[in-house]
Amino acid sequence: MEKQTQEAATQTTTKPKRTRRNSKRSKNSEHLNNHNQSSSTDNSDASPKAQNAPKTAKSIWSIEDFPVEPVEGKLRFHDLNLPDRVIKSIAEMGFEYCSEIQAETLPMTLLGYDIIGQAQTGTGKTAAFLIAMISDFLDYPLEEKRPNNFARGLIIAPTRELAIQIADEAIKLTSNCHLNVVTLVGGLSYEKQKIALETENVDILVATPGRLLDFARSRKVQLGKVECLVLDEADRMLSMGFIPDVKSIIRMTPHKESRQTMLFSATFPKDIQALAQQWTYFPKEVSVVPKEATNQNIEQVIYTVEADQKWPVLKQLIQENGGQRTIIFANRRDETRDLYERLRKANINCAILSGEVAQDKRVKTLKNFKDGVIQVLVATDVAGRGIHVDNVQLVVNYALPEDPEDYVHRIGRTGRGGETGKSVSFASEDDAFMIPEIEKVVGESIRCEYMVDTTR
Ligand code: AMP
Repeated sequence: MEKQTQEAATQTTTKPKRTRRNSKRSKNSEHLNNHNQSSSTDNSDASPKAQNAPKTAKSIWSIEDFPVEPVEGKLRFHDLNLPDRVIKSIAEMGFEYCSEIQAETLPMTLLGYDIIGQAQTGTGKTAAFLIAMISDFLDYPLEEKRPNNFARGLIIAPTRELAIQIADEAIKLTSNCHLNVVTLVGGLSYEKQKIALETENVDILVATPGRLLDFARSRKVQLGKVECLVLDEADRMLSMGFIPDVKSIIRMTPHKESRQTMLFSATFPKDIQALAQQWTYFPKEVSVVPKEATNQNIEQVIYTVEADQKWPVLKQLIQENGGQRTIIFANRRDETRDLYERLRKANINCAILSGEVAQDKRVKTLKNFKDGVIQVLVATDVAGRGIHVDNVQLVVNYALPEDPEDYVHRIGRTGRGGETGKSVSFASEDDAFMIPEIEKVVGESIRCEYMVDTTR
């Protein structure tokens, strides 16, 4: 895909004005203390409590409290005419300038354009689509009350971990406005999710396809009034076989002319290109992926090893890189179990993240990994796909992935947010034939080193 931002900014003739929004917010700023919304249906707070609340200087926040110097070549959130409540959350999250995908998409999504975005994790794409969605909902509050279970915004993600992380970011970005975030994912309590749908306004619904379809088919959640739809990691949905479910879900949402659709994917195989066009309405296409599909900040190396040397070489590698936050990918669950046992016996602080681990345990494991309580995570592709943890210094492919595109996803867990990272991939007699395929996908040759266990 080519970058089309410049073209999008100037060529307005190709894009009819969105039909679902009459006019765009004109007001440039608002004071937070005047916007203590009691629900997403009302833009002013009429509750006696709020009306009587003393407006002390302390309770007033304005954009001036978040000074960010203009820097050439960088877009500030200040420059986007976002609602102050969104800016306040952005300030609290410590973001100052838009990341590239945010700078490329927000000027268009805030105007209501659909987006097809090629971006990997680590680029800030989650905040890119959330800021557009939240700003839109604040700009266009519901005019009348509806039953709680009608979703306004729907974000579909392929894995539970990714959905939970998107929801976490959505909660932070909505912390200064009354928009509820509800998460529907498999593996966690169905009952609790059902209660959330009954008791809260579903302003932003983050879901994996299977569980969402269960709820939608039994009409416990209603998708017929979705205003904004996000499909995240669309290529993953395809490779995980979710496209039929996603199609059924999309059929339950309003026609594409009447909703805003943002589709993100790290790669664009032909099927995804076709679906992206089918699901969006005069989309603007944006790509922030460097020419090489993989992150420039990642030093990549392949260790060619004999199969029986893999474990001793791995052990040495981990011990040499003592304390580094590391993810080790294996292809099968039994491999992850076996590796986990070996690492544990070698007194390496580790945990497993695979599909067979109960979801609540996986959430806890991920938290411990983020908090630095766990140093090494052993993961399968499916479970590891949604790991969005900063400062992962090392990714190890204990076996090369069966699908070369998974290589890009795996190593993309390191080198995030401008940090540097390293990936070490083991290639043995069983899988070395995959190397040319992988190099084709990453668009460069990868340095190979022959390794043997030197400690014996
Ligand atoms: P993502 O690609 O959405 O997984 O985001 C990667 C990381 O970048 C997350 O930890 C975000 O919180 C962080 N992030 C997103 N946008 C910005 C920004 N504009 N400035 C700094 N960090 C950001």
